[in-house]
Amino acid sequence: MAEAGKETRQFRAEVRKVLHILTNSLYTNREIFLRELVSNASDALDKLRFRVNRGESPREPDLPLEIRISIDKDAKTLTIADTGLGMSAGELAENLGTIAKSGSEEFLAGLAAEARSAGEESGDKDKAAADAANIIGRFGVGFYSVFMVADKVEVTSRPAFGENAQAHVWISDGLGTYSVETCDAEEPKRGTVIRAHLKDDAVEFLEKFRVESAIRKHSAFVPFPVFVDGERVNTQPALWREPKTSVTREQYDDFYKALTYDAKAPLDAQHIAVDAPVQFNALLYIPDSSQDFFGADRDFWGLDLYARRVLIQHRNKELIPEYLAFLKGVVDTEDLPLNISRETLQENVLLRKINQVIVKQTLSHLEKMAANDAEKYKRFWQLHGKVFKLGYHDFPNRERVSALLRFNSSTLPDADALTSLDDYMARAPEGQKTFWYVAAPNREAARLNPHMELFRKKGIEVLYLFEPVDEFVMEGLGKYKEWDFKAAENAADDALASFADKEKPEKEAAAPLSEEDNTSFDSLLARMKEILGDKVKEVRVSHRLADSPAVLVSPDGGMSSSMEKLLKVMQKDDSLPVKVLEVNRDHPLLRSMLRMFKADAQDRILAQMTRSLFDASLLLDGYLKDPQALASRTGELLAEAAAWYTEVRKI
Ligand code: ADP
Ligand code: MG
Repeated sequence: MAEAGKETRQFRAEVRKVLHILTNSLYTNREIFLRELVSNASDALDKLRFRVNRGESPREPDLPLEIRISIDKDAKTLTIADTGLGMSAGELAENLGTIAKSGSEEFLAGLAAEARSAGEESGDKDKAAADAANIIGRFGVGFYSVFMVADKVEVTSRPAFGENAQAHVWISDGLGTYSVETCDAEEPKRGTVIRAHLKDDAVEFLEKFRVESAIRKHSAFVPFPVFVDGERVNTQPALWREPKTSVTREQYDDFYKALTYDAKAPLDAQHIAVDAPVQFNALLYIPDSSQDFFGADRDFWGLDLYARRVLIQHRNKELIPEYLAFLKGVVDTEDLPLNISRETLQENVLLRKINQVIVKQTLSHLEKMAANDAEKYKRFWQLHGKVFKLGYHDFPNRERVSALLRFNSSTLPDADALTSLDDYMARAPEGQKTFWYVAAPNREAARLNPHMELFRKKGIEVLYLFEPVDEFVMEGLGKYKEWDFKAAENAADDALASFADKEKPEKEAAAPLSEEDNTSFDSLLARMKEILGDKVKEVRVSHRLADSPAVLVSPDGGMSSSMEKLLKVMQKDDSLPVKVLEVNRDHPLLRSMLRMFKADAQDRILAQMTRSLFDASLLLDGYLKDPQALASRTGELLAEAAAWYTEVRKI
């Protein structure tokens, strides 16, 4: 609807959805709207300074770079003015009428997840809403948070660059529409003024001390002066440039919170000051919460790169390798020209060098943590181990990364306990030169894996791998301190022969078969192979089983079954692998089957049992594709067994 330069437009649907939540659901922690507006103002000033440093001249070049907040109690307005980049009419509509890149869907999903976890932690519904505010900044919906406290907002802006010096004003009540029109006001001479008409229930933000304390809490490290009614509020220096001895833990924590919007203090902080081979200062944090770098947070990593305290790039990904993606923080160097273009930052030699130093320092830092504070290191591992273990790619640092890996294992008391490879080696019996592992979805499944039986008998520790990537890590590492990595299921028949039995068998060992029965058993195996046909490569006697009747093994010690499964998924191959069925000659089931076989090689029940045994082994291997067949065969066998039982017991 155009009327004399004024254009009124509908917000896009996703914006309306977000606005609705912001205005109706979030009543606690509303002060973060100040943080959002101040950070937008600071971004606008940063962008202006960046272009000035590259040689462009802005309008009104003598205006200081600053943010001024003023309160008008009579008009019930709060005004935030910056002398930054400003916006044209088109930019006002584009930037404040739509939701950028990350999108409202992710915001809504993130909101739900955050509210869930906050509510669970505190058992408090209000707390859930309060912590939901944490994610507002992360999803590019920061500006709209002003509608938590305002029922009308006017944004007047004059672009800092370009021919057209006309100011425009964007106005909205945050409900369905906004308008943009030209405006004759003198202010701002350059940049943006946001005037929020506060709701009656938000008049607390007309108190100077209230606004000041919110700014101190959330915006202390904004790199431009912030004034409230003429008085400077943020006087914090760039912390990373301060000598380490003068910075308190609290200052480190506050800086982290300001940087990341994380309400929780970090697990750990690292303050680095290096002069050679490159000069840089860095403040690096390990958050006390994990991020999903394989999913929604894919892009939320990298360090903020400064050159002489000027922000050059947010989330620069050249400064750290992906496996340190959990690190948050800033890097500031004297050696980078301010006017460097974003393109030349890629493949930049200087950044490569900084990257290498950060890797070395972070590895030492983690080594110290592991040595001096096992609990903290364990927490680190639980939160960030999943990302860190990708460090097996880092060939030059492979040995150090390996030493920092942690695993659950068969020797440890519970699923939470962790061991390093070095500790595993220290516990291993004389002569062991292999790290044995088994991949399983959880500890219980690992423990029940039939391949574990021999290891248990010999008292040999087996590492438990619970995540699909773990096996790639093992393959990728190849060796650690001359020891191999090998899946327990691929152990050769005699791999553990040289180790004495540790565990006394609980049951009496079954009596050995007579010579004649041994021969019959070989015929039974042939008959079983005949019954199973192409489904198995071979049926043979196992030397690795103690308690289980049967197990599937790869024909020639090839891949482990979980690795194979992963590859099949990747290649969209859903055929069943053809494996060797190994059976336990001493198991009562096999002894009974032998008797049945001797009585009648073509026995119908024998055939059914053979198929069921195979199905059960497939099931343990995670491959059963036809559960209906298994269930119906089991049903038939149960029916027969029940009939015999009632007959024998005469009931
Ligand atoms: P984000 O800051 O994550 O991009 P916001 O909702 O906070 O999301 O802001 C949306 C956009 O509006 C910003 O990206 C920016 O382009 C523009 N903007 C907001 N405030 C200002 C300001 N004070 N000066 C210039 N541009 C601004
Ligand atoms: Mg913002």
